[in-house]
Order: sequence, then structure tokens, then C-alpha cells
Amino acid sequence: MPDRITDLIHHPYAPPEGFVAPQPGVFKASTVIFPNVAAMRARDWRDKAGYTYGLHGTPTTFLLEARIASLECGSQCVLVPSGLAAIANVNLALLAAGGEVLLPDNAYGPSLAMAQGELARWGITHQRYDPLNPEDLRARLSPRTQLVWLEAPGSVTMEFPPLQALAAICRQRGVLTALDNTWGAGLAFNGFDLAGAPGEGGGADIVVQALTKYPSGGGDVLMGSIVTRDEALHLRIKGAHMRLGLGVAANDAEAVLRSLASIDLRYRAHDRAARELARWLQARPEIAQVLHPALDGAPGHVHWQALCGPRDLAAGLFSVVFDPRYAPAQVDAFCDGLRLFKLGYSWGGPMSLVVPYDVPSMRSADLRTWTQPGVLVRFSIGLEAVADLQADLAQAMALLN
Ligand SMILES: *Cc1c(COP(=O)(O)O)cnc(C)c1O
Repeated sequence: MPDRITDLIHHPYAPPEGFVAPQPGVFKASTVIFPNVAAMRARDWRDKAGYTYGLHGTPTTFLLEARIASLECGSQCVLVPSGLAAIANVNLALLAAGGEVLLPDNAYGPSLAMAQGELARWGITHQRYDPLNPEDLRARLSPRTQLVWLEAPGSVTMEFPPLQALAAICRQRGVLTALDNTWGAGLAFNGFDLAGAPGEGGGADIVVQALTKYPSGGGDVLMGSIVTRDEALHLRIKGAHMRLGLGVAANDAEAVLRSLASIDLRYRAHDRAARELARWLQARPEIAQVLHPALDGAPGHVHWQALCGPRDLAAGLFSVVFDPRYAPAQVDAFCDGLRLFKLGYSWGGPMSLVVPYDVPSMRSADLRTWTQPGVLVRFSIGLEAVADLQADLAQAMALLN
């Protein structure tokens, strides 16, 4: 069987008669034309052999769905207009008033904001759990728990959780799990098969990704995906998707289809450069700690090793904690002083990015998952020459003093 990356490039696609090219055509539509009333009445939005309305899919979006499903080793996929919309779509499909959702303490920030905002207003409670402590998650499960979110590594602080243990506890208790797999991108590990080889299971029930990041790779497209292996679960998500009016534009889908063929090369290049810079920063006296799951001593490194060690992949993202002798204003001056690294959110594009974070304000006080003094800065390493990025970091370090 060909590698999934080979499969991404040679994925089945039927071009129009007499026309063969490496990239698929782009089909744009709100209205889809039916040949007659009987066909209009007979067509079912669940059936991907036919089309009903642009919002529910076109040949272009169906093709991208099929490719993302194979990248994640899943069976079905729903595309949405952003990674955050993927989280919202899953929440709205599976949660009901009186229920509860559990989030890791280091979850993607806007996911927590959704729980505190809309979900709370609709009578859905949430709890945050310590992602490095499966017993903490187990103790928080109750008959009201309707969904548990998993994320690896954690947002900003990069702790790598024991995903397989967390998923196993939820499965044992019959609670659905959704994994935010944006960092792994379907490459570093397989979200459905945490137990081992592809097809062995033991992973999440739902795998979402912000296609905005590595699948797009350009810093110019917003999109999200929701992949499942269970048709009934897919239809719950697809039903909510349809009722909520979440659709993606064909030109955006085309941009992701074009980038997807090079995702493995780009991911490895981001990873290699990030590890080189992370190791260099480890030796700098200004830095108290480098938070990169593939580095010895990083929180959860053993769990990264167990899950991602065989493929030895780790994305292009890491954070550093500055020595506490530097005040936040000095660290701000470091960030402002960078020339190649730009100040901006998101990651996965060709341009390196930097963001300073006030971590204590982002974590729950009672869990104490974060106790480190010093200001944290997160880097997203782009595709520039590593020597240039290193020189940029070095010149900005000089501004600290
Ligand atoms: C960026 C990101 C999202 C949200 O994606 P958007 O397309 O920006 O809405 C969700 N989860 C993680 C882990 C992310 O990095």
C-alpha cells in the first residue's frame, strides 16, 4: 500500500473527458442545477455521489474532504471556515443543555472562551483538567460528561500529554473524545490509532485540524476539518454543519489542495529548523527554559517520545521562558527588535512569527499546571534560512540588556 503522502499526490480524481493535469479543476457554486423535479426530491445531502447546494459541498470541497480524511487515516470529513469553527461544530453537534465538556488546562485559548461564553449561556458547563495527569481527568468525568477535548501538545506552553491514556479512560467510561490535531497535522502521529499501528484504534473518536496551519502552509487561508471513522457520528456532525450554514469557498479549498501535496516536505523543514534553533536557545544565558516536546527535559517529553518518536516529527513550534531577571517590558523590546520574525498570531506559513504570552492569566489557578516564573515567548519557525533566523534572535537578545 502506498504511503499516505504518496496517496495525497496520487489521490483518485476523475478529470473531465480528454483533460488530464496534476491539479484538479475548481468547481464553484451556490446553486446546483437538477435535471428535473424527481431528481431534486430524490437527492440526499448525505450522499456524496450527488450535490444539493453549494453550502453542502461541491466536487472541489468533496475532493479536499477525501484527501484530509486519508491524511488523518479517517473515513469521513467535514470542512468548515476555520479551525475554531471545527471546534464549534463539534461542540454544537454533541453537547446539550445540562451536559458538561472537559478541556485540557492548556487548550487552544478561543476553545476555552467558547466554553465560558456560548456554551455556558446555553446551560453546558465545562471543567479544565490537568493534561499530564490521567487520574485528574478520570476524577472529573461524571454522568454529565458529554465530550472530552484532547490536544497535543498544549497551546503555548507545549506540554505533551499521555494521549493514549487519556483517550483510554474516556473510552472505558463511554465518553466521546475529540482531538485537536493541528500541531501533528496528521503527520507526527495518527489521532485515531494511538494504540500503535494504523487501524489498531485506541485513539480519539473525532480528529479536528486547523487547515489554516500546515495544510494551507501559506498564512493566507482559514479553514478547519472534522474527521471521523464512524458514519453515525459523522452524520451528527454533518447535520449540525448543515443547519449552522458552515461552508467553505472553492478557491480556498483549491489553495489547500495545491499546498497539501508538499505538506510532508514543509513540515519536516519547519521541524528541522525549529529543533536547531530550540537547541541553540537552550544554551543561551538569557533563556531559563525551552519548551519543545522533542527536547529532553521538556514537559511531557517522554509522551512525545512514545507517540512521535518512531516518526521523529515535531512541527515548527516552540516557546521559551526568559530568565526571570528580565522584566516583561524588556522581553517586549526583544520581540519588537526582531526583524525577520514578525509579530502575528497563527503558524504553519513560510514566515517566522513571534508572540509574547502572559501565561499565568491563561491557566486555571487551582490546577497549577504552570508555576514557572519568567515571561514566555512563542516562536513559529517558518521556511527562512536557519542561520538568518539565528542571527536575528542573537541581535534582538542584545536589546534585552
Ligand atoms: C490555530 C488553531 C486553531 C484555530 O484555527 P483557526 O483557523 O485560526 O480558527 C485551533 N486549534 C489549534 C491548536 C490552533 O493552533
